[in-house]
This record gives sequence, structure tokens and C-alpha cells, in this order.
Amino acid sequence: MEMTKRIRQPIIAVLGHVDHGKTTLLDRIRKTNVAGKEAGGITQHIGATEVPIDVVKKLAGPLIKLWKGEIKLPGLLFIDTPGHEAFTSLRARGGSLADLAVLVVDINEGFQPQTIESIEILRRYRTPFIVAANKIDRIKGWVVEEDEPFLINIKKQDQRAVQELETKLWELIGKFYELGFQANRFDRVQDFTRELAIVPISAKYGIGIPELLVLIAGLSQKYLEQKLKIEVEGSARGTILEVREELGLGTTIDVIIYDGTLRKDDTIVVGGKDKAIVTKIRALLKPKPLDEIRDPRFRFDQVDEVTAAAGVKIAAPGLEEALAGSPVIAARSEEEIEKAKQEILNQIQSVVISTGKIGVIVKADTLGSLEALSKELQEKGIPIRKADVGNISKTDVMEALSVREEEPKYGVVLGFNVKVNEDAEEVAKAKGVPIFVGNIIYKLIEDYEAWVKAEEEKKKRELLKNVTFPGVIRLYPDERYVFRRSKPAIVGIEVLEGRIRPGVTLIKETGEKVGVIKSIKNKNEFVQEAKKGDAVAIAIEGAIVGRHIHPGETLYVDLTKNDVIILLKQLKNELDESDLRALKMTARVKAKEDPFWKAV
Ligand code: GDP
Repeated sequence: MEMTKRIRQPIIAVLGHVDHGKTTLLDRIRKTNVAGKEAGGITQHIGATEVPIDVVKKLAGPLIKLWKGEIKLPGLLFIDTPGHEAFTSLRARGGSLADLAVLVVDINEGFQPQTIESIEILRRYRTPFIVAANKIDRIKGWVVEEDEPFLINIKKQDQRAVQELETKLWELIGKFYELGFQANRFDRVQDFTRELAIVPISAKYGIGIPELLVLIAGLSQKYLEQKLKIEVEGSARGTILEVREELGLGTTIDVIIYDGTLRKDDTIVVGGKDKAIVTKIRALLKPKPLDEIRDPRFRFDQVDEVTAAAGVKIAAPGLEEALAGSPVIAARSEEEIEKAKQEILNQIQSVVISTGKIGVIVKADTLGSLEALSKELQEKGIPIRKADVGNISKTDVMEALSVREEEPKYGVVLGFNVKVNEDAEEVAKAKGVPIFVGNIIYKLIEDYEAWVKAEEEKKKRELLKNVTFPGVIRLYPDERYVFRRSKPAIVGIEVLEGRIRPGVTLIKETGEKVGVIKSIKNKNEFVQEAKKGDAVAIAIEGAIVGRHIHPGETLYVDLTKNDVIILLKQLKNELDESDLRALKMTARVKAKEDPFWKAV
């Protein structure tokens, strides 16, 4: 039998910086009123809101011109949980559950950290998006007309307000340009495949929302049509939005179905923390319309089946260990169950890893966000020892501690959108294991990298304080530059190569020790260092001129093997050409006693 193919609703996610108006926009879309009831209303799903296409068409009115060609989509399905954390959590088909996204930017505040994070994430997932430049009603003197299309509303604004909007839009366009995006006000976009469309809106008053919906529908139809084709009869696939206890139902999962049809007698395979859960559906539930809820215990209606795209609550035994962000696959035969199990296990095992390598410990709230953070770390060349879902535990800290013994810079725990358990916090504090937590991936990594850099600087300063640099000097041949013969000897010298500092020991060509430089005087000032080319007077404790040293003689700063190893391995960048020559010359002297120096 030929399976029927149908285009489903695109799944839309809303992202953006905190307080830029994501929730307000979703609320406003939920309350969209259409004159004339025949258009039908907004449908509330579990965890999602559906805008039927008739509503979009009705709202569009003359804006229908914005897209060419027929719209065959049944509607738009907005995920109710906004934000980049939710977005990264919701994986599907190895990418994102969302087919398209709306990036909300407060036009008065412009780009903020979570705006940039959202853009990076959308880019990484190759998710097309539209920009909603929100809060235009805040522009001075703006005339508000609720629910008006932007293109009509803009005609009512005075010159000044229009100018201010333009200036702010240009600032946004400039920021997008810096990130490599060509962006423009939606009605000035020539080619939607190459330019990002910016729709000025007021989420609070509904201005511009008609255009936003029209564009989402138009773009989905045009560029996602193939992706949105589903086999209506096929077994369902979805992603868990949330795992929830419900009164009288036990643990349930809220799922967005993006493919096929889910029936109430299906068996489902569900992703858990470290296993695939196989269970039989007890009930499929949809929210009861608000005005029909008389008793809050009965907030749901049972349904026999749902077809993608849809948000549905599934009640079934054994869901306690189901994990948000994980896949749900319906199976109708033993063979299908086995296949689904394998697929889910593969997905878990590709993300939840324990390598035993020297590397950082990574924790995140869901499989999706763990994958996103791990990927980003790998791209930066930061090795991972363990990546797992869940809060940061004492075990994680102990594991980081063991890594630190081998490589201090990797002895850390990085957590995305997770909490730090109390005992973990205590151990980390006591043992000095750094924990980095946050909900912005790029900032998390930036913070860690800044810490690594600061630690390296600190270590370098410490090394510099204790290591001896190579130096080669020559006493002036003229007796006039012997200022004092002993206790201490004070002689005029020239630094031939490298550098000298008070405290270093000098040796002769034969390797024999001469004494310790007590002080260095350049002209009439005591200095802490003299470098190649400097002519200075030095006081040498323990040497007697005429017995141990002689005018015209070449002397070397004595180095230990440890000095050489530190200089060449850890402070290489601190050595200049002359230091390297001094090191070679000194090594030649030292090699007479110890073959180690032949290799320097
Ligand atoms: P979210 O954190 O991105 O979900 O932001 P919210 O939707 O919670 O909005 C943050 C604040 O901005 C709230 O006080 C909203 O009332 C306000 N807000 C959102 N959209 C608009 C808008 O279009 N105009 C104005 N004036 N305020 C808005």
C-alpha cells in the first residue's frame, strides 16, 4: 500500500536574550484574535501552540503578497518553552527539533550575550531563522495600534520616530554583518535564502505579528517543504520536552511528535539517562480547552491518536527515568522495538562518554545540551574525560581532582544549565577544583579559557622568579676596570650574550665555580639585570681577582639541568636570540663534565 505523504506544520522555536520579550511574543500569538470565527482559533497542544493556516491567511490580508505561490502548510506549531537552553535540548534527527526559529532582539538594547549565543546555536544547527526586532512601541512618540501589521502601523508614525527606528535597525544590521549575516528589514529583502529578514514588532501590543506569522509560513513553505513531508501512517517519532509527575497519572512525558502518527495502543521506546525504556502507552492526552476545566484534576482529554506535528502528553508505566530532550520512537513489532532501542542507545552512547583520558569533566541538563557543549569543546581542542547528564556531583569533582594531578588545566568541571550538589561544592572548595557553571555555552568556555590563561601566567611568573637565565660575560682586559680585588671583587664587565642578575653563580671556561654575583651597577645605579651589550660593574662574592679570575676572562652563568628544561620547555617564548646563544655557549662548557649538555 502506498503511504500517504502530507506536509506537516513546521515546528517553530523562539530564542533570544532574557527579557527581550520571548514569552510576551508567545503569549500574544496564543491570544491572536481573528475577526470572524470561521477562521478557527489557535489550538493549545501540550507544550506547544498551533496557529492554523487559516488564521495566518486571515491575518495576512493584503500582506499575502509577501510570498508568492500557494501555502499548503496546515499551520505553524510554536514550542511554548522559549530560549536557547530549550532549543539545544530538543534534538531530533541529529539536529534540532525546530524547523525554523524566531530570534527576538529588544531593538532598544540590541545584541546581548544570549542573543549571540542563540545565533551561534542556530548557525551550528543550520536552522533558518527570522529576527523579531521587539519593543518598537518604546520608541519615543510611537503611536500604538494593537495587532496592527507593521507596514500599516509605520504609516502613522511621525518623521522622528521613523528615523529612530531606522537608526536602530541599522545598528542591528551592522551587528549581524559582523557575525557574517546579511540582514535587512523584511520588506526590503530581495532574496530570503541569502538575507536574514528583520520584522519590527511590539510583542506587547501585537504590532508586526501578522507579518511575522506570514513570513514564517511563507519561508517554511518555500524552503522547508521537503523536510516537512511526512508519512502520515508511519510510526511516530518525537522528542521529550519534559518529564512530569501528574496527579493520578504518575510520571508522564510531554512530547513533540515530528513524524508519523502515534496511536494509543502503540509501544514506545524512550531515551533514559543511560538506557532505552520500552513501554506500552496507557493514555494519550491533550489539554482540555480552558473554559471546560471545572476540576483541575481533570485538565486533559484522552485522544486515540495524534499525527505530526503535535504536542502530546503520554502516560505510561516506567517513565521515571525518561530524560528530557531524548527521542521517543513508536514501534509496532518486535523487530521495530529492537531497532528503536538500538538507535536510542547509539544516540546516548555517542554523547554520554567516559574516555578515561586526561581531560575536563562535562555535565549538562539534557542529551542535546551535553552534545552541544561537548562539540564546542572538541572544536576548541579541549579534551574531555567524561561527559554526562545531570547535576555536578562529588564524584565529578573527585575525578577532576585526579585529572589535575596529571594536567592542572584540565582538572575542572564544566556544567551547562545544571546545579552543583552541596557535597560537590564543599569538596571543590576544599581541594581547589574549579567548577564553571552557566547557561551560555560560549561564555562558559570563555570563562574556562580565561582561567587557564590566568593560571598559566601565574605559573610563568612563578617559574620566571626561580629559574636562572643563561649569560656570558667578559671582564675588561684593562686593570683599570678592577675596582676591588676581593671581598667582594668588583670588576667592570661587558655582557656578551644573554643576561645576568644578582644571585647567579659564575663559572669559568673549565666549568670551575668562581663565585656569586652580589650586585650589578650600571653607571651609578644598582640594577636587577644587565643584558647583552651592557657595560656594568659587578660585585662577585667569593672570587679574588688575580687568583680565581683575571682581566679579559670570559665567565658563564652556571645553570642546572632543571633550569635548561624549564627554559626550553616552558619559557621558550621568554628567550631571545642572544639568550639562546648564551645557552649554547654555556652548554659547551658544561658538556665537559656531563654528556646531558651535549644535547642542548
Ligand atoms: P523573555 O525573558 O524574553 O521571555 O521576556 P518577557 O516576555 O518576559 O518580557 C520581559 C519584559 O519586557 C516584560 O516586562 C514584558 O512586559 C516586556 N515586554 C515584552 N515585549 C514588549 C514590547 O513589545 N513592548 C514593551 N514595551 N514591553 C515589552
